[in-house]
Amino acid sequence: MHSNVVIIGSGPAGLTAALYAARANLEPLVVRGLQPGGLIATTSEVENYPGFVDGIGGYELAENIEKQAARFGAQYKDALITKVDASQRPFVLTTDSGETITADTLIVSTGASPRHLGVPGEEKLANRGVSYCATCDGFFFRNKKVVVVGGGNSALDEGLFLTRFVDELIIVHRRDSLRADPVLQERALSNPKVRFIWDSTVDAITGDEKVVGVKVRNLKSGEVHDLAVDGVFPYIGHIPNSGLFKDILERDENGYIVTDGRTRTKVPGIFAAGDVVDHVYRQAITAAGEGCQAAMEATWFLAEQEYAAKKKAGA
Ligand code: NAP
Repeated sequence: MHSNVVIIGSGPAGLTAALYAARANLEPLVVRGLQPGGLIATTSEVENYPGFVDGIGGYELAENIEKQAARFGAQYKDALITKVDASQRPFVLTTDSGETITADTLIVSTGASPRHLGVPGEEKLANRGVSYCATCDGFFFRNKKVVVVGGGNSALDEGLFLTRFVDELIIVHRRDSLRADPVLQERALSNPKVRFIWDSTVDAITGDEKVVGVKVRNLKSGEVHDLAVDGVFPYIGHIPNSGLFKDILERDENGYIVTDGRTRTKVPGIFAAGDVVDHVYRQAITAAGEGCQAAMEATWFLAEQEYAAKKKAGA
């Protein structure tokens, strides 16, 4: 299998890159990865993507961009890239089923994954009360009591979504003020189902077969107390999915891929866009914008290659 443009990852960055590359007649191939639609597809409601007066579901937004790109010839493949050989062009990619894909250009839009708390009980009780996706799992917590950890937009946005189901939502935050946007803060602070525990962290998640509680430490007094809850939703930021490129591309100290501000990486022909690059804005709209830039850069890169080849051949 060969493509002019292979896009790894199918969040707003990858799908928008597919739309632009498809409209440039490049017949891009999107390798969807583990989470089709990316993180946005796990978001209940997106209220700040321009053009949707009443907001739009995250899954629906991703699906729409995917269909829009398909209309112009984008192709999709459900696979995971496990190896990249960037030592020559075309680049050679290997999928989890051992298949080989060659690519004249590559757009890396592998996104980011939720950061884990790294406390006892978290891994053992994953999917048994510990969840990183309120949209996916909220329904299972009807009439229950759950904890959300974090004070950013994700914690409040997803926490507010959970209040549709739960009886009580407790937000444990390590400081006494929130990082989230004021509009979300107001909604959370005035919601009767929401209670805050300030200046505190979750030290452990308890339970054998399922979550039965958390140990909460007050960072000022050092006191630890047990809190009986049925679920824990950590929303403490993200880690870029850049491991595949650790020996190929430049990454910063936190693992974000370094680009030149025009989505170009240090390897000619490889571009990067979205949450795998951006540790500042991290919005669906900025990811989509970078996806557009990456596709345009890939288009120009291919045109230059073609021109150089023709010139060399004396055409
Ligand atoms: P974030 O903005 O980085 O917030 C992470 C939160 O977790 C912060 O409150 C942070 O505390 C806390 N935290 C970090 N490490 C921790 C640890 N080890 N233990 C306990 N708490 C910890 O991440 P995010 O909320 O996932 O948002 C990521 C990006 O997506 C942001 O740019 C956000 O604006 C965007 N986003 C936007 C929307 C929206 O617009 N509706 C929705 C979701 C996400 P401190 O505050 O003390 O640092």
